[in-house]
Amino acid sequence: MSNNITVKHLNGKLHDHFIFKMSAGGKLDNGDKVYCIHCNKKFAYRGSNTLLIYYLQHKHILKYQHVIKNNRESTSEVPEISNYFLSQSNRPLNDKVSADLIVSIAHWIASSGCLTAIVKDAGLQTVMRTAIQNQTYNLPSRRTIDNMFDKTYEEKLVDHKKAIESVHSIALSTDF
Ligand SMILES: [Zn+2]
Repeated sequence: MSNNITVKHLNGKLHDHFIFKMSAGGKLDNGDKVYCIHCNKKFAYRGSNTLLIYYLQHKHILKYQHVIKNNRESTSEVPEISNYFLSQSNRPLNDKVSADLIVSIAHWIASSGCLTAIVKDAGLQTVMRTAIQNQTYNLPSRRTIDNMFDKTYEEKLVDHKKAIESVHSIALSTDF
């Protein structure tokens, strides 16, 4: 940065992360552009911080966490930012998604040969919480998975009985 350029920081939570550059006379040089303090990347700026927050989150994750921390500690002067963060996590699961997850977890366990005790696995829980962006999500219990097995077994049994009713002959082979 040359000596005849001064800078003006963004207001609010992004104060320490983005600047406007100003010419010697104190006039905004490129008033609709802001620059990342950490790497000097230039952004078009029209008053919304959403893109800048997204950028910090992905390119300067440690700085982003700092923003969140400060945001939680202070009474927010930019409430829409904290709402943005909140909307990124702990979004309540609707009933359908919750039920679909139980079905797919049960199918996965049955087809992979995992033990049902896998639903007690803390690492799997963390992965699921990350995937669905909900830090309060709990994996279904073993009892829930066992019930799903029973239900699926009955359904499949009916399907296979129907399929066999309509055939003339059947060949079975075994592999010991
Ligand atoms: Zn940057």
